[in-house]
Amino acid sequence: MSDLFDRSYTCSICGNEFTSKQVKTSAVRAKERKKDFHTIFSGENPTHYGVICCPNCGFTQFENDFKKELSAKCKTTIQNTVTKNWKSQDFTGQRDLQTAIKIHLIALVNYTVMQANQATMAKLLLRLAWFYDEMGNEIDNKKYTQLALDAFIKSYEVEKQDDEEGKELEVIYLIGELNRQLGNYKEAIRWYEMVVRHEFAFKNRLIKTYAKDQWALAAEQYNASK
Ligand SMILES: [Zn+2]
Repeated sequence: MSDLFDRSYTCSICGNEFTSKQVKTSAVRAKERKKDFHTIFSGENPTHYGVICCPNCGFTQFENDFKKELSAKCKTTIQNTVTKNWKSQDFTGQRDLQTAIKIHLIALVNYTVMQANQATMAKLLLRLAWFYDEMGNEIDNKKYTQLALDAFIKSYEVEKQDDEEGKELEVIYLIGELNRQLGNYKEAIRWYEMVVRHEFAFKNRLIKTYAKDQWALAAEQYNASK
């Protein structure tokens, strides 16, 4: 039996009704969870299916955003940029890693022309960094890790996080972790320390533990790099 099923969507740009594959919850098998929240799956990877693309007009968004109402200005922008250049392509079936990268790059174009917030850009760029990591493409992994880091910093500095769910703590932690991955050990430690000393650190013990562990690792790596 297939691990995938069809979910129905209606495109807010062109009105097209279509189905796109998603992974059944019962079929999701996490094998490993990395310290940047990158999960490795043993079967179908639900992250590959996180963005929805209308085959008719190219409108591509994270699933939750795909269902949202769009402003008239936003619709016109998508029609005049994405749709105008769209050659009918279908990403509604099963998605391997290559396809996932392709569709996330299309989402990146969509969100860029829509001038999406930095938190959304960061989420998308981080996923691309994960995909290139899975592929063993070190150059593009580094490129998208750096772009994700820049977006997380902008998001942290400019966009007020709604910290009800400890999101700000996660962002601060990720800024530390992505800095460490890029070899900026001293900078990484500065952000990990912010997590540990954060007034809401008690609310998210997992992140606090991660920050302590990765702080120790970054200190080790810094000493080894001298
Ligand atoms: Zn459409």
